Formats: sequence, structure tokens, C-alpha cells
Amino acid sequence: MGFFQDMKSVFTKRELVFLESYKESDGAFSFLFEKENDLTWEAGQHGLFTITHKKIKNATKPFSVASAPAENVIKITTRISDQPSDFKQALLELKPGMKITMSGPLGSFHLNDDSPSLLIAGGIGITPFRSIIKQLEVEGNRDDKQIKLLYLDSQKSYIYKEELDELANNATICITYLDSREHLLPEIDMFIDQYKSNGKYYIAGPKSMVESVLGYLKNNSIPKKNIKKDVLAGY
Ligand SMILES: Cc1cc2nc3c(=O)[nH]c(=O)nc-3n(C[C@H](O)[C@H](O)[C@H](O)COP(=O)(O)OP(=O)(O)OC[C@H]3O[C@@H](n4cnc5c(N)ncnc54)[C@H](O)[C@@H]3O)c2cc1C
Repeated sequence: MGFFQDMKSVFTKRELVFLESYKESDGAFSFLFEKENDLTWEAGQHGLFTITHKKIKNATKPFSVASAPAENVIKITTRISDQPSDFKQALLELKPGMKITMSGPLGSFHLNDDSPSLLIAGGIGITPFRSIIKQLEVEGNRDDKQIKLLYLDSQKSYIYKEELDELANNATICITYLDSREHLLPEIDMFIDQYKSNGKYYIAGPKSMVESVLGYLKNNSIPKKNIKKDVLAGY
């Protein structure tokens, strides 16, 4: 999706009806909204979500759409601490039938092609990958295990773990859970050795994690065109 398409999408605001929320793992919650028939996105993209049921500062924030288009629902997942922002407090107050708005979908963070791909998630950066992996399962044509997910979380608080393990059993993807960057780099090395410059690399997570993995890939002569990144800025 190009820049001009993104600009058009930013101005396309639609109301979403809240359905339900639930806890995904320690401190992480998912919020589900109705998906209108004409709303679609490429797995991995994000939207701009706005709180409308009360006046708050910073009422609009970006969130990856964690559901796949085929799931027919809009799902966002976020970490909520004991002292959440006004935005997250407002999310927690939503009752079924209440509305928020969404602009988008936005961004180019989606799989490009059928190349062997390494997906590298840091913490909450798993959200766009959930959408991508779920969509791959629905499409059902990528059963050759050439897609590998490295999921790094220093707290070992892996969001969607049960679901991801099930997806891995269904042979769509290989998943390795990691709790330190020290263990991440050898895994990246293995993928580089195996696929050389045929591999594609997708990185999502907090800025420091994304920048450090990006630097590592560049130092290993991975061409820029083979790398996509999604910085979940704001943490
Ligand atoms: C393209 C894109 C996609 C994104 N996708 C997602 C997504 O899928 N899920 C998601 O959660 N976010 C996502 N974000 C980030 C999101 O937009 C918010 O910025 C982020 O969730 C922080 O939200 P907050 O400031 O409302 O709240 P809070 O998380 O409540 O944070 C409030 C303040 O407290 C600080 N804080 C929070 N927790 C701690 C802690 N444990 N220790 C110290 N300080 C803390 C924060 O730095 C912040 O300043 C995305 C951002 C971008 C740009």
C-alpha cells in the first residue's frame, strides 16, 4: 500500500461497534469490534483508533490489527499497566454496543511474496504477526515451513502462545520463543545461512529492539529491500 493510498485511508474514518474484551496473558488484553463487510486490510497493517465516548487527551492511537481479514472481526491487543493512560482506561470502560472510530488500514507491513521469511517479534510486536500467521493458515498454501517466527519477550509473557502453538502444529510456520537478545542472534544467523539473500525479514516491536535487529541484519549484508520493520512507538 503506497503513501497516497495511506493518505486516503487516514481520512476514511469509520465507526466500529465494540463486542467484547478479554485478558490474553499477564497484563495484555484484546478488544474486539464488529467488522463491516466493506472493511478489509492486508494482514500486518495497522489502524488509527479514536476514543469517542468521552473527551480525553490523545484520543487517537495507532494499533496493529491483530486479527486476519478472514476472521471477520477487528481485534486489537495491548498491554495495560496498573496506571494506564486515559486512552487505555477508556478502552477498559467500553461496553458491548459502544463505539470507537478507526481510520485506515495503513502501512506496508505485510508479507510481500512467497519468499522464505523470518518474522522477528519483540514483546507486543507480536500483534501484526498474529494477523499474518492467521491469514496464512486460512489461505492454507504455505505448508512448507519456510516461515519462521522468532518471538522475543524478556518477561516470557508470550501473548497468544496457545494459539500460536496450535498454528505451528498445523505446519504453517515454525516458532521459537526466546527471552534474551543473546539467544535471538544465533537464530537469525541460522536463517541467514540457510536462505542467504533469498530470505525476507520482518521486524516488529519497540523502537530499540527493531533498530538493534535492523543494524544486525545490515551488518550481515542483508539488502534493505529484503527487510520490513514496524516500530510500535509509544512504549
Ligand atoms: C504502527 C503502530 C502499531 C502499534 N500497534 C500496537 C499494538 O498492536 N498494541 C499496542 O499495545 N500498542 C501498539 N502501538 C503503540 C500504541 O499506539 C501506544 O502508543 C502504546 O500502546 C502506549 O499506549 P499509551 O501511551 O496509551 O498507554 P500506556 O501503555 O498506559 O502508557 C502510558 C505511559 O506509561 C508508560 N508505561 C507504560 N507501561 C510502563 C511500564 N511497565 N514501565 C514504565 N513505564 C510504562 C508509557 O511509556 C507511557 O508513557 C503501535 C504503535 C504504532 C506506531
